[in-house]
Amino acid sequence: MENKLDSEVNMKGIHRLAIVGGGFMGVEIALVASKKAGNEVTIYDISVEALKKGQGISQESLDKQAAAGDITQKQKEEILKRISFCEDLASTLDGVDLVIEAVPEILELKRKVFSKVDSLAPPKAIIATNSSSIPISRIEGATERPNKVLNIHFYPPIEKRNIVDLMGGTQTSVETFQAAEEWVKSMGCLPLRVKKELVGFCFNRVWHAVRLESLKMWDGGFVDFMDIDRAWMICTGMPMGPFGIMDFIGLDVVYQVHLTYYEEYQDVFYKPPDSLKKMVEKGNLGVKSGKGFYKYPEPFYSRPDFLKL
Ligand code: NAD
Repeated sequence: MENKLDSEVNMKGIHRLAIVGGGFMGVEIALVASKKAGNEVTIYDISVEALKKGQGISQESLDKQAAAGDITQKQKEEILKRISFCEDLASTLDGVDLVIEAVPEILELKRKVFSKVDSLAPPKAIIATNSSSIPISRIEGATERPNKVLNIHFYPPIEKRNIVDLMGGTQTSVETFQAAEEWVKSMGCLPLRVKKELVGFCFNRVWHAVRLESLKMWDGGFVDFMDIDRAWMICTGMPMGPFGIMDFIGLDVVYQVHLTYYEEYQDVFYKPPDSLKKMVEKGNLGVKSGKGFYKYPEPFYSRPDFLKL
């Protein structure tokens, strides 16, 4: 029975998508899924305000793309038409092939959401978490379908950073993994397959190491964070350094991710600095709150003289 349902999704592909958690990542994933994969997407969020905000962000993002000539007006309308925002979880999950969970990085919350989604989604549906650090094996037990769950982790902005970590749990079926891989490719992304379970998956693990070292150097007062960003920008040619990127991600998200590693390894080496925690407690979350390491909308690193001698 399970195998039959597995192959059903695999053979027919993923067309209908549900996003649970319509914040920064939920909306980002929805936009690319509609634009690139042509998916019909429904976004659910516990907060009506977040849904309204998500609607505004989607419109704004596509307006910009149309103004820049990346898409036509007709394409813009079609992309928007395929995305809907819903206050009811059961309706959101009606007939879906794939559910992407993108709620905050808190294990217990994710387990609750998975359990609820599992009870309402069609049996054929695959349920994935976009968690930045939590392996699906910590969540799979909250469902009755451990063969149809996995980690699908995106890197924003998805169209520019088109890599996606894929990692199965202890019982994820080959069909589930393949269906996810095909879907990720249909979104124009390169799947990075994690062969053995690892906190942080593939590239996020590398990025975590860079961040942790940078945070420690700043927290210890060894180096100004802007000098670390300058060095990174010059050496990699990227438009932002680690601190600019952390602001972009959200310092609350960054802090939670570092806590996950710390809890996993129980080693002080991985402990996120208290000064980062204080910034989060003060509400200095980065771009989304207008202030993090830098002040927005015009962060210091975007000035033309930032990399000048
Ligand atoms: P966010 O705070 O912008 O969005 C989370 C959304 O979840 C909010 O709108 C909130 O209202 C909603 N929510 C909370 N509880 C809910 C519930 N029970 N049911 C439905 N919705 C609920 O966070 P984000 O940055 O989008 O991160 C979401 C996930 O994606 C996290 O696991 C994070 O680690 C991961 N992630 C984030 C980034 C990033 O750059 N921010 C990158 C990759 C992965």
